[in-house]
Amino acid sequence: MEKVAIDLHIHSLLSPCGQAEMTPNNIVNMALIKELDFIAVTDHNSAKNLPAIMAVAKELAKETEIGLCILPGIEVTTKEEAHILAYLPTLEAAMALDEIIYQHLPDVSNQKEIFGPQIIMDEHDQIIGEIDKLLISATDIGVEKLWQIVTDLGGILVPAHIDRKSYSIIASLGFIPLELDVKTCEVSKNQSFEKVLANFRFFKDYQFIHGSDAHQLEDIAERQYFLELPDMRRQTLIDYLG
Ligand SMILES: [Zn+2]
Ligand SMILES: [Zn+2]
Repeated sequence: MEKVAIDLHIHSLLSPCGQAEMTPNNIVNMALIKELDFIAVTDHNSAKNLPAIMAVAKELAKETEIGLCILPGIEVTTKEEAHILAYLPTLEAAMALDEIIYQHLPDVSNQKEIFGPQIIMDEHDQIIGEIDKLLISATDIGVEKLWQIVTDLGGILVPAHIDRKSYSIIASLGFIPLELDVKTCEVSKNQSFEKVLANFRFFKDYQFIHGSDAHQLEDIAERQYFLELPDMRRQTLIDYLG
């Protein structure tokens, strides 16, 4: 088994709340400096910076022979206003989910003076576009529907920051529906697994991971959250989580 350092919840500058420094190259290089093994960039309701992020990681892996694996992901806001991390086996699957989600976002334009810009970059950190619809809106996709869509794409769901009093599945629904065959839940970085278990006994049936939910570079996790995996393949991590 390999001890693998993870941070599976990072926002790029595509998320309106993500800082301008969260460019594809900066995120990947910071993850390398921090000696992480597996990261996921999970922007709000979009995967449009993943092509650049994955291209940067691939290029750096060639140059440095240091392996940094990227798990494609999106932090989806469901109709119930729950933040759910969707992890996909391939970039193509993530982009397919991105397209579905965009159609299910309300027709509300981003007011960038208030929320911040939603920037798409290429692998050289050049701006190639901006997203019009406000990405932090709730979609009209319910959690059970999201489950169907993501499992059809070969992916899995991990409810985000379940200990939070807003935008978590517990804050929105009060429980995790049994129809969702969820195996893993994410706990905020400053909260202990023990505390969550003490507050919610039913979580004893789930495994927990920590994620940084970083919106700026310094908040990306150090080598501090570990999983034991038989190998470093993306599918192995997905099988572990879901
Ligand atoms: Zn969130
Ligand atoms: Zn987040």
